Amino acid sequence: MEKQTALFPGSFDPITKGHQSIVERALPMFDKIIVAVGCNTAKHSVFSLDKRIEWIKQTFAKYDKVEVVTFDSLTVDFCRQVGAKYILRGLRNSSDFQYERNIARINQELAEEIETVFLMTKPDDAAISSSLVREILSFGRDVSKFIPKEITISAEDFKK
Ligand code: ADP
Repeated sequence: MEKQTALFPGSFDPITKGHQSIVERALPMFDKIIVAVGCNTAKHSVFSLDKRIEWIKQTFAKYDKVEVVTFDSLTVDFCRQVGAKYILRGLRNSSDFQYERNIARINQELAEEIETVFLMTKPDDAAISSSLVREILSFGRDVSKFIPKEITISAEDFKK
């Protein structure tokens, strides 16, 4: 049977429990999930690419089916390059939905063989975002409740 690969693209600046839950819940649906850290978008990241990759690798170290890569092309082009037929995204609320549906629509236009699959956040993770984690850290507070238990992030990790 053909291997089904999903691409989970994002900035992961940094990875949160919300991202982790989306990947872990999608694992039974796919043969492989590629977590792809975008490094050429308009978004300026706060944490270095190396740090973001390291934290994602530590988070999913126990899963053989999870791969972590960086990419700087259009998401659908990258999907084709790595043979991913699915784009995985998470939805927290209606603003995520408004934003995501436009991207999904455009991606469909660009590559109709690639489907976007959405998973709803778990209620406990609904308020978690990378930006909130960054904000809390910037005040020197502990963020361990919001990030995967496999990693530690401190204010020292902010890019110089
Ligand atoms: P992007 O910069 O592409 O928005 P993010 O790293 O912010 O990338 O998010 C990647 C994906 O994870 C997006 O689909 C986003 O909606 C989803 N996501 C982010 N936080 C959560 C959360 N707490 N629960 C579920 N999904 C989430």
